[in-house]
Amino acid sequence: MKAVQYREVGAAPEVVTVPDPEPGPGQVLLKVTAAGVCHSDIAVMSWPADQFPYSLPLTLGHEGVGTVAALGDGVSGLAVGESVAVYGPWGCGTCIKCAEGKENYCLRAQELGINPPGLGSPGAMAEYMIVDDPRHLVPLGDLDPVQAVPLTDAGLTPYHAIKRSLPKLVPGATAVVIGTGGLGHVAIQLLRAMTAVRVIALDVTDDKLALAREVGAHETVLSDQHAADRIRELTGGIGAQVVLDFVGAPPTVATAGACASIDSDVTIVGIGGGSLPVGFGSLPFSTTVTAPYWGSRSELAEVLDLAHAGAVKVHVETYSLDEAPLAYERLHDGRINGRAVILP
Ligand code: NAD
Ligand code: ZN
Ligand code: ZN
Repeated sequence: MKAVQYREVGAAPEVVTVPDPEPGPGQVLLKVTAAGVCHSDIAVMSWPADQFPYSLPLTLGHEGVGTVAALGDGVSGLAVGESVAVYGPWGCGTCIKCAEGKENYCLRAQELGINPPGLGSPGAMAEYMIVDDPRHLVPLGDLDPVQAVPLTDAGLTPYHAIKRSLPKLVPGATAVVIGTGGLGHVAIQLLRAMTAVRVIALDVTDDKLALAREVGAHETVLSDQHAADRIRELTGGIGAQVVLDFVGAPPTVATAGACASIDSDVTIVGIGGGSLPVGFGSLPFSTTVTAPYWGSRSELAEVLDLAHAGAVKVHVETYSLDEAPLAYERLHDGRINGRAVILP
């Protein structure tokens, strides 16, 4: 089968032919119907050889949906041909966090060498993929696979971040979304569907800000050194009760801290190398700063339910498997508006 692989540190991903995978005991083989292209892969492919944690070649793609093609020995409860989404942050399945469905915070994954598909294990950017356990699958029903696939990360990750801040997202509050790309443009829609807050979106280009308004941002602000002042003006000097940073670079985390209100949540989702020091007087009183990872299994089901209800519509650009390297190049250059989805 064809697969998109990162084969050599520093080199561009390549489309190659690899043996068709077969499901072992307990595993499920999926015929991939769609795979999403996430900016985290760009980060992974920028890591130097001495810090690269996975073995190469690595089949990319940690957002995947497909139809069940074959069941390994001992697997039941799934029908061949069923349309499913892959829950990506695989855990051990038995620790206390996994027992809560929070496999994204598995306490033993690292120790046991368990890696998500596309981030260590062979991923979804291929004609077929192996899923290690049927518990990682959520039925898609009649959801369009192309629309649904980004929800497994670009939907789930912001959903998880928003859900933990719901107590602060009361009517009259303001949420700031920094970076309105794959994750950010879904975050805006989730905020509008789950809360009655005012949403202020920040990005660096007009077309990204236009998409942000189209998907529900009340205000858009160019992300520069004046952005925090502009947000303070828009909030009567108070600032935002929740700031979600989907860039996470030094200038954006600085903006995030500078536009936060007293007793706010600042959530750094982007892995852009920025950090925000917390100490008495460095941020408004009682500001909580956190950097969450992906989301839980039940949250994925909730996000898909929101999609079933028509509350989220991902802005997608589709590419063939052969065009996947081009999609990565465009994402790297900031030229994807919404999410790129690969159709094997
Ligand atoms: P993306 O490229 O689709 O979107 C990023 C957006 O940020 C783009 O619209 C870009 O124009 C904008 N941007 C760039 N610099 C900016 C700046 N200075 N100010 C404001 N906007 C700026 O990326 P994505 O796939 O949505 O991923 C977003 C980030 O989240 C990445 O860093 C990714 O690695 C990370 N991520 C983290 C998790 C997690 O679990 N923590 C999960 C998925 C992705
Ligand atoms: Zn991702
Ligand atoms: Zn676990």
